[in-house]
Amino acid sequence: MKEGDFNQVKDQAGPCGIACGACVLGNGTIAETAEKTKEHITGYGIKEWAPATPGGGDLNWAETERTLDWMIQNANCAGCERGGGPPDCAIRTCSGDKGFELCSQCDGLDDCSEFDWLQDYGKTLKGILRDNRGLSKEEYVERQLANS
Ligand code: SF4
Ligand code: SF4
Repeated sequence: MKEGDFNQVKDQAGPCGIACGACVLGNGTIAETAEKTKEHITGYGIKEWAPATPGGGDLNWAETERTLDWMIQNANCAGCERGGGPPDCAIRTCSGDKGFELCSQCDGLDDCSEFDWLQDYGKTLKGILRDNRGLSKEEYVERQLANS
C-alpha cells in the first residue's frame, strides 16, 4: 500500500460497509503493484528474453507500459465520502437521503435490494454490517482496518 494514499482514505467508509483504507484502490495497492511490475519488466530484462518463450514474441510492450502508466496515475480512489466509487451509487444516495453514515443503522438492511448489484460481495457486506450493528462509523472503520 502507498502511505500517502492510505492516509487520505483511512478515516472513510462507504455506507455499504467498505472501509476505504482496506480497499486496494483506495490505499494505493493497485497503483503500487503496477509501479513494481514496471520496475520488474526493466530490472529482469523481461522484454529481452520473452521472445524466446511461447507467445512471448507477440507481446506489445509499448502498450503494456502505457497500461501500467495509466494504472499508476489513475488506479486510485478518493474514498466514498469524497466522491469515489460510482457517481450514481444507489447505496450512497439512499443512505444519504435517510441520514445514515452506515447501512448498519438502517432497519431495512436485511431486505434491502440496493446491494444486489454487488452480487455475492453485497451479501458479504450486509453480513459484516449486521455483525457490527451499533458501532459508530469511527469504531466500525477502526475494527475493519484492524481485521484487514
Ligand atoms: S460508492 Fe457505493 S459501493 Fe462504493 S464504497 Fe461507496 S457506498 Fe459502497
Ligand atoms: S435501504 Fe437502508 S440498507 Fe438499503 S441502501 Fe438504503 S439505507 Fe442502506
